Amino acid sequence: MKNVEETKIVILGSGFGGITTALKLARFARRTDGLKIHILSKDNFFFFTPFLVEVVTGMVETRHIVVPVRQLFYGRRVDFTQCEVKRINLKERAICTSVGGFPYDFLVIALGSVTNDYGLDGIAQNTFFLRSLEDALRLRRHIISVLERADANPDSLKSGLLTFLICGAGPTGIELACGMRDMFGEVIPIFYPKIPFEKIRIVLVEAMDQILPGFPSALRHHVRRRLDEKRVEVLLSSPVGRADPGGVFLDDGSFYPSATVIWTAGIKAREILAEPELPKDHRGRIKVNDYLRVEGYEGVYALGDIAACPSNQNGLLLAEAQVAVQQARWLAAHIHARLEGLAPKKFRFHRYGRLLSLGSRHAVVSFLGVRLYGFIAWWFWRTAYLFKLRGFKNKLRVMIDWTMALFFQRDMSGFG
Ligand SMILES: Cc1cc2nc3c(=O)[nH]c(=O)nc-3n(C[C@H](O)[C@H](O)[C@H](O)COP(=O)(O)OP(=O)(O)OC[C@H]3O[C@@H](n4cnc5c(N)ncnc54)[C@H](O)[C@@H]3O)c2cc1C
Repeated sequence: MKNVEETKIVILGSGFGGITTALKLARFARRTDGLKIHILSKDNFFFFTPFLVEVVTGMVETRHIVVPVRQLFYGRRVDFTQCEVKRINLKERAICTSVGGFPYDFLVIALGSVTNDYGLDGIAQNTFFLRSLEDALRLRRHIISVLERADANPDSLKSGLLTFLICGAGPTGIELACGMRDMFGEVIPIFYPKIPFEKIRIVLVEAMDQILPGFPSALRHHVRRRLDEKRVEVLLSSPVGRADPGGVFLDDGSFYPSATVIWTAGIKAREILAEPELPKDHRGRIKVNDYLRVEGYEGVYALGDIAACPSNQNGLLLAEAQVAVQQARWLAAHIHARLEGLAPKKFRFHRYGRLLSLGSRHAVVSFLGVRLYGFIAWWFWRTAYLFKLRGFKNKLRVMIDWTMALFFQRDMSGFG
């Protein structure tokens, strides 16, 4: 066992970035006396965002993608306090929270992002977001209530009740569109026979002139074909102007009536107060250097969605779990190396691939230069994400959920 001077490492957030940093640091703490690792987060759980669409569409139970933080760190030398982070006092090197102050020697800011409504009128009030577990459950309950309303009163079908508008044709919007089409195809003929299935419209509304910006073009074309097959309408170059309770107005003034407008059009960094103000980019992300360090503040680091981190190919890294996880592993090793007096190395992100589920046993995958489509890609998608899901119990539960879905109908109760 090595000894270092008592060093307090405070980690803000229990998402991908925060949890991974703490897990890796905990390994060093086993061999090093004096390291105090403390997570502060408003949620006492970690949840797996890539399966939020599965929760909405009833493929996976909500609980099965959630792991309690205390369970993750059971038997490890990591403290946890559930609290709201209010302010960072950079001069005094302390965090002000809803339950008091916490001093730090090293600070890791991993507070993530929130949905960006770009200041457009009515978006926050009249659309559904998909960023948190609550968002997923709210959306699921709403979709089920729409089906119940359509079944109870066939006259109401005229007012856009069966039109589902998804704003944002990025990965989340596309996975959701495909997942919803599958869900409707499965449950409507059996449970809602009065609803005319062909009247259901799923429309992806995208401001740019292409879907999946940033994805390889062959992959984009394949996805577009798949969306056509699944009768998902795609409106390109159609920026949304505002949302009303009954639908959305596009910038060109046209109105799309819809009882369900889902906003997956963007995210922004979570705002965090600091004294003095932290350096931020135009999208509110904390600017960090190649060592994930906030310039000008010794021992203060930011990672994941909240950080504006330079990428190897000019520009900035994307807000993705794989970025947050790689940064977190690197940062834990970096802090450990610093405590050991070793020379620091720069952080480099390595993209191993992109995975996108397109519903009913179909996906696209680009992994280590290999492209896969269809069933094999879908199998790869499931296996890869199951592997990444935290906790053996959760892996088993999700596997059981998926297996049950092969033999039993989906649960369409508007409960949970
Ligand atoms: C629907 C959906 C699907 C996605 N699918 C993928 C995918 O397939 N692949 C991929 O790479 N990425 C995916 N992502 C993106 C990925 O989830 C994020 O990039 C990742 O969560 C970022 O990790 P993070 O640690 O920065 O933030 P988060 O994981 O969001 O964690 C932030 C943490 O901070 C805590 N917190 C926030 N504010 C406070 C406060 N004031 N006080 C205390 N605690 C606070 C929160 O409780 C949370 O624990 C998806 C995102 C969504 C929404």
